Amino acid sequence: MKYEVVIGLEIHLELQTCSKLFCSCSTTFGKEPNTNCCPICLGLPGSLPAFNRRAIELAVTAALVLNSNVQLKSRFDRKNYFYPDLPKAYQISQYDQPLAKGGYLRIETDGNYRNIKLERVHLEEEAGKLIHSGESIIGSDYSLVDYNRAGIPLLEIVTAPDITCGREARLFLEDLRSILLYSGASDCRMEEGSLRCDANISLRPSGSDKLGTKAEVKNMNSFRSVELALNFEARRQAEILVAGGTITQETRHWDEEKKLTIPLRSKEGSSDYRYFPEPDLLPLILEDNLIKEISAALPELPAARRERLKEQFGLDSSEAALFTVNRSLGDFFEEAAGKYSDYKNLAKWVQGDLLYYLRESGKTVEEVDPQQFIELLALLDAGEINRPVAKDLLNEMILKGTSPQIMVQKKGLGRISGDEQLLPLVEKVIDENPGAVENYRQGKDKAIAFLVGRVLARSGGRADPGEVNQILKEKISRG
Ligand SMILES: [Zn+2]
Repeated sequence: MKYEVVIGLEIHLELQTCSKLFCSCSTTFGKEPNTNCCPICLGLPGSLPAFNRRAIELAVTAALVLNSNVQLKSRFDRKNYFYPDLPKAYQISQYDQPLAKGGYLRIETDGNYRNIKLERVHLEEEAGKLIHSGESIIGSDYSLVDYNRAGIPLLEIVTAPDITCGREARLFLEDLRSILLYSGASDCRMEEGSLRCDANISLRPSGSDKLGTKAEVKNMNSFRSVELALNFEARRQAEILVAGGTITQETRHWDEEKKLTIPLRSKEGSSDYRYFPEPDLLPLILEDNLIKEISAALPELPAARRERLKEQFGLDSSEAALFTVNRSLGDFFEEAAGKYSDYKNLAKWVQGDLLYYLRESGKTVEEVDPQQFIELLALLDAGEINRPVAKDLLNEMILKGTSPQIMVQKKGLGRISGDEQLLPLVEKVIDENPGAVENYRQGKDKAIAFLVGRVLARSGGRADPGEVNQILKEKISRG
């Protein structure tokens, strides 16, 4: 029997607010443990939560860019469970009346577009962070808890069981991150835990519309591990089913080292959370006008930017995609393009040598001055420097921020050209290499390339090979 894979994702991402969802504590990452806390986010008796307006605006923004249907009335519930990262022993979340319902995100796989459907987008508070003495909760002697994170506004996005393989899940997450970054709702930093993803995965006979028994996979710490973990899990389940076994409904933990999933605990049903309406908060009522205002103020989103880059600058698909995914690189390109009209050449340099030297030096594109970059290209275009010199200057410009024009003047790096400058070098090389000159005279064309190389070396790479070739041949034929 043939099986098909059915995957649904549950994504949590921290919204980019300055203060927490129900109190004024700071959300700054990396502070001394348990210093960004107050009676409200610690749930001390007598404290009362109050909405952070900015968090609600950002949640609505995220829902809108995901084509989700923002509800004018939603409600907060208490999700009860006992775990040390949860100081109140309940989490304020949304249950049967979420902030937004439905929606989709369009992804591109091998040139085809597909809408991955969403079930809901809701707002909740973040839990604290457990720091285990060992590598993971399994096998640790003890754990420490840091409540700085507790109460940070968290958006939960639940997809429909609409994803068919690990790769598609990764593409979905990449596009989700991109669109949310552009919207300004979240910084989506997976390494700081501000974007996390769990997955439900099951198999069913091909063509069936009934869902099979699912496993929930957790602890995937990068988009790459999401892809690997889901592909592993699909294979594991397929082997069990093919052998006539049955899948156990359980939560499984992705082991990044061993590249496999292991059972963590059997999954509790949602009724175990004993949801009930949060008595300390009124239902959230949104004005139609607020939604319209947020909608009107949405920035340009990745798909639109990709198309515009193609149209406005004549970029090809891969260039437009790069300058969209790498937003700051794209911003750099656009700023430089304002003052330099050979867009193709500009794009080539930005994605080629600029990116290369940035990686080499560990610098970011924000540290490079677009004006200086254009100066460099202009020197090259005018023939004042050649390509090897341009690359050296680019590297130095990135490292030290020195203007290419000034470097050319100071170091005398300008191009060497014309008989006056080149002839002395050519004559020297001819004197020093009588054998090669003789070979060329006897018709061995390779010998000229050798001599050109010698002249270029003597010029410090500042001469043009074509010109040197011509002067050399003339000089030898004149004798
Ligand atoms: Zn607080």
